[in-house]
Amino acid sequence: ACLERIQGVDSTIRAFLRVDEKGALAAAEASDARRRAGTPASALDGVPVGLKDLFLTEGLETTAGSRILEGFVPPMDATVVRLLREAGLPLLGKLNLDEFAMGSSNESSAYFPTHNPWDVTRTPGGSSGGSAAAVAAREVYGALGTDTGGSIRQPAAFTNTVGLKPTYGRVSRYGVIAYASSLDQPGPMTRTVADAAALLQVLAKHDPLDSTSAPVKTPDYSAELEGGVRGLKLGVPREYFAEGMDPEVEAAVRGALREYERLGATLVDVSLPHTQYALATYYLIAPAEASSNLARYDGVRYGLRAKDAKGLKELYALTRERGFGAEAKRRIMLGTYALSAGYYDAYYLRAQKVRTLIREDFTRAFQQVDALVAPISPVAPFKLGEKVNDPLSMYLTDVYTLPCNLAGVPGLSVPCGFTNAGLPVGLQVLGRAFDEALLLRIARAFE
Ligand code: GLN
Repeated sequence: ACLERIQGVDSTIRAFLRVDEKGALAAAEASDARRRAGTPASALDGVPVGLKDLFLTEGLETTAGSRILEGFVPPMDATVVRLLREAGLPLLGKLNLDEFAMGSSNESSAYFPTHNPWDVTRTPGGSSGGSAAAVAAREVYGALGTDTGGSIRQPAAFTNTVGLKPTYGRVSRYGVIAYASSLDQPGPMTRTVADAAALLQVLAKHDPLDSTSAPVKTPDYSAELEGGVRGLKLGVPREYFAEGMDPEVEAAVRGALREYERLGATLVDVSLPHTQYALATYYLIAPAEASSNLARYDGVRYGLRAKDAKGLKELYALTRERGFGAEAKRRIMLGTYALSAGYYDAYYLRAQKVRTLIREDFTRAFQQVDALVAPISPVAPFKLGEKVNDPLSMYLTDVYTLPCNLAGVPGLSVPCGFTNAGLPVGLQVLGRAFDEALLLRIARAFE
């Protein structure tokens, strides 16, 4: 049924870069046999899902949305891909994204932009826009995304779906193509909060192959889901309702806050005073780490190679010139500049210090409240083409999602209404490190 749905709608939505019909059907048949025998591999055995094309899949091309990895067929699965296979979930294919997850609209994909199922002239968000659109258009029951600065939460908000960025270290990054290693975190994107809980249950496992994977116990994410919010203190960070916010987006979010009060939560006004520095901090740290991570694409080891190059230096130069898109090049240059001798202390080191201040804002807030509730994006899904030539205005749409990654805490997006034009708005729930179960419970109460 999912494959038929893909056949029916994906020529319009364009969520998929690659559909693995054969692999998916074989997995579905094996699952069927297990279910008939009464021995399902997990609660989600047989549930078809898709993968952002940033996750390595053994034997199936993986491009990160870039020309430079065109034709790259990984010899191994990412840990989370292995976990999904072991749990019996058929993998339907690879979903579109901004090149190397750099972007907020899917328009930096080297292949084509994905369209928002709620209004196909608009972006589904990014960088996990293909994942969000596929879930929203009912092509898959769930998908994996990655979130470095909002790339799970913002597309979820733009498509009326649920997206969870777990605590840094909760889900393995092994075999996930690196963008900014100290910020990247994979997570589930689903139709409902209960589905997000079930999918996180499969993904959240300590992985010795990822040195930043946290050796912590995995709770039962579905157990407390229906616990409600009565008696909880929910902080409303005043810096997250700044000028420039679309009034219709703000109205939907304020409506959600009133609903939480009605459900028995207490709203508390809190301040995260360093929020105003998050954008500058992120757009230093992320490109710096990206410039280092992307140095491996040199035409020698993976994907594209400029075969006509004369000599090694020209091979590097021509391969990168042809293989990287404009946004990847911009970030490589920004990051290389920030890390160069003499500038390191002034930029990267300074940004790391501000990052600590941002993390301390959250620590202090969580001494007063159980979780924070806020908007995801200051704007509704914008038109494809609207911001593509203005990187700064694109970066500005990330203001409310970046601090969470800088602090390493978990964040979730749950649908909270629509603008007058019928465009989805998401509510953000932020929590203490490793408190995903509480975030899911808070989101579920509202759903
Ligand atoms: N939009 C942000 C960026 O371009 C976040 C992307 C992400 O989370 N991968 O860096």
